[in-house]
Parts: sequence; C-alpha cells; structure tokens
Amino acid sequence: MSLMEDLQRTTKLRVFPRSFAGNELGEIGMVRTETETLAAVSGKLREKFSGRDMGGYLLCPTDHGNRLALNELFPFTKPVAIGRKAASFGLGDRLGYANPAQVRAIAKTELLPVLAQQSLRELTLTGRTNPQVIDVAAWAVFREGFRKGFASDGDHLKSKPEIADALKAGCTMITLDCSLALKSCAAGERELEAGFESLPAAVRKAYEETYLRSRAPEEFGLKFTKGGLYKLSVVYGGALELIRDVYFDLLVPAGRPIDFEISLDETVETTSPEAHYFVAVEMEKMGVEATSVAPKFVGEFQKAIDYIGDLDELRRTMKIHAAMADRFGYKLSLHSGSEKYSVLPVIARATGGRFHVKTAGTSWLEAVETISKHDPALYRKMHRTALQHLDDAKKFYVVHCDASRIPPLDTVSDGDLPHYLDLGNNDSRQLMHITYGFILGDPALKKEIFDFLNSHFDLYESEEEELCDRHLNLLK
Ligand code: ZN
Repeated sequence: MSLMEDLQRTTKLRVFPRSFAGNELGEIGMVRTETETLAAVSGKLREKFSGRDMGGYLLCPTDHGNRLALNELFPFTKPVAIGRKAASFGLGDRLGYANPAQVRAIAKTELLPVLAQQSLRELTLTGRTNPQVIDVAAWAVFREGFRKGFASDGDHLKSKPEIADALKAGCTMITLDCSLALKSCAAGERELEAGFESLPAAVRKAYEETYLRSRAPEEFGLKFTKGGLYKLSVVYGGALELIRDVYFDLLVPAGRPIDFEISLDETVETTSPEAHYFVAVEMEKMGVEATSVAPKFVGEFQKAIDYIGDLDELRRTMKIHAAMADRFGYKLSLHSGSEKYSVLPVIARATGGRFHVKTAGTSWLEAVETISKHDPALYRKMHRTALQHLDDAKKFYVVHCDASRIPPLDTVSDGDLPHYLDLGNNDSRQLMHITYGFILGDPALKKEIFDFLNSHFDLYESEEEELCDRHLNLLK
C-alpha cells in the first residue's frame, strides 16, 4: 500500500495528493491536521528528516532543516534563476500562507513564478528572514507538485552588504534599487554642466560620441540634446557605478546564474525613454547583463489601487521602453502590479508577452478581506490598530490615503465591513495595506490572524487563487 493510501485509510489527516512522491528509499507527501501542514515520510527516507515517529511513518514540520532535506531529494524545490527569455511574475507572501494558492494560479499559465520575494522593508516589518521565506515557497511547490521551477527575489536591495546577505540566503534574483544612488535632477543648468565638465575627458568624449553624434538613438525615435546628456550623466552616474560594482563584485563571482533586475522605479521622476536608453547603453558598454529593468513609468503606481494617470501616454511610452528592452535583450519589468488591472494588458501587449511583473502586498490584503467577511470582531481590532499607526506607516509608502475620508468603524455594521476593501475605496484599502507591519507587530493580534488563517485554510486559499487568476488572466 502506498503511503498516501495508508494515511487515507488509517488517519484523519487530509492529504495533498499532488505532493506524494518517492524513490527506492521511501515516500514523502504533505498532509494537514486541523491546524498545521506537515510532511509525512516513510521508509528509509525517514532518516533524512526530523519529526514525530507515528509508527509506519514520520510526521515532520515544514521547517528549514526539513526543507534542506527536501531540496536534496527534489531539485525542483530549490529556487532557480529564470533568465531573460521566459516571462515571469512575482508574488509576495508576507504571511507565509499564500504561496500554494499562488502556485495553483500560476500553473494555469506559461509564466514562471518568483514565489519568495520580500524586500528588506517587508522582512523588517514582518520579522521574517530570507531563508524562512524560501522555506515556505519550497514546501508550496512540493505540495502542489509544481516542477517548472521558481525564483527567490532579494527585492529592492540598495547596497552591496544587503545583496551579499541575500545571495548567502539563497536568493536567485537580486533587485537592485538604485534610488539612493540616483541624483536628484532638480539642479540648474549651470550645475549640470559643471557636473558634466568634472567627468574625465575620455568619458565626456565617449558620451558625446554615443549620444550626440551617433544616429543609433534614432532607432527609438530619440534625439539627445547637450543639456539632456549633461542631466543624464549627472543623475545616473552614481547608479551606473553601483550597478557595475554589484554585478562584477558580487553576482559574477557567485558563480551561479542569478537574475539581476535594475530598479529605477522608486524615485519621484519618471524614467524617460532617453534615460532608459542611456542606462541600457552604458550597461552594455560595461558588460553588465541585466535580466530585467524596471523604469518608473509615467503616472502613479500606488499600493492596493489601480493606476492613476494617462493610459494613452503610458501605452505610448511603454512601447518604446519595451522596444529598448528587446533590443538590449532583457525583460521590461513592472512593479506594484497588484490591482493594476488597467495596466497589465498594456505591458503584456507592449512586450509581446516577455515581461516581469511584480505584485507584493495583495495576498495580505486578501487575508484582511477574508477576515472582514468571516470574523468581524477580529477585523475591527485590525482596523483600529491600522488607524493608530497610519502616520508611521505612511513614512514607508507613498500613498494618498486620508483617514478622514474613511467611514468610522462604529457607523459600519458587521455585514458591511468587507466594503472597506472594495476596489475604489482607496483610502481604506491603502490603510489596511500599508499598516501590516504594525498589525503583525502586536503579538496577540498576530496570533489571532494566524489562528483565523489556520481555521479558514481552504477559504483563504481559494480567495487568493481567484485574486491571482484575476491578475494573470489580464496578462494572457
Ligand atoms: Zn519597485
């Protein structure tokens, strides 16, 4: 009798049929008690895992040590680099409960998932580490029998030590956030010219050759002016040095494939096609191979709500950015993709389906929504905590959220609580989206949330899968 049949016949454990696998040593598969997901292991394979001996099999926690053993047995449970060719989709799982549902959704598409994807900001606010995040992703692909591979993104890292740590933790993708190295371009003409003049003569000459005298930029309908070139060299000079140092000091010496994403999006100023071209050409000159580049597109990409801006202008510029990405070989990347329902088809079309799209906080908001429908008392506590900490949370995120526009809790009946999370109710959606660190920072509240998720396991997973489907269907 197989391990799965044995468990089904002799225990009340729920089994996840897609997970069961084995070799000549034994079998392993995932099961669930009322409150916990575990791995059941039989035969000699038991020696490789640690857990409770149940007689014929071992019941093992989905912890880090057991994950490493799982990685040894099934290489598809190890994160990999996705590369420049395949389109990819980043999903965040701040709570550690969303990955299996996300895997089920992505399995219905041709996209490859970045399942473990947390920025330092998210890790700090949730008190988690990169290895923990990868543990959750590895067990999720195993549970769902998803063998196409997944990546692990050290997201929005700004310095070499941060990146070195992420690489040590096993990240297979590095998103370099250049925002600290980008100079503000508020400087006047004189200053820009002085900045340019301070560059070594050979560098200046090369810049002038490439951007002012060459006809190559015309391929993208671009024409550089002297002033424009001065500005780009000053604004992007430091970022290019950082890109070069990270690539040659950390990524190349790592000696394994690593996806390298250049993020220019966390700045105030829109990345113009000229700026994108400048960065692309300079990277090529330095021999840096980026996997993807995330410009700051025109308009606003705020958390938890749809795009704010001129869609026609976005469509027009996105096409130029996509053509450039194609020409230089990397993928065009879009950040803050959650709930950007109007933008997802735009990037899919502009890139001909070769893109990277990141979503992050949406699985958290889905959990909040599920709680608002099924545990009004818990939702009210979370909402109150969120309001208390809104001002602090706004230091981390650029949002328009205004608490005075949110209907007071005591005027809303239990049955109407879910409306706080309705699309279009931007203030309350953003309130609940950005305060996750403070809500989870209250140990009693955190326990209640996790207890809720454990007792409404299927419900949350199916809502999360549906939410992912809604995004992914727009990218087809
Ligand atoms: Zn970003």
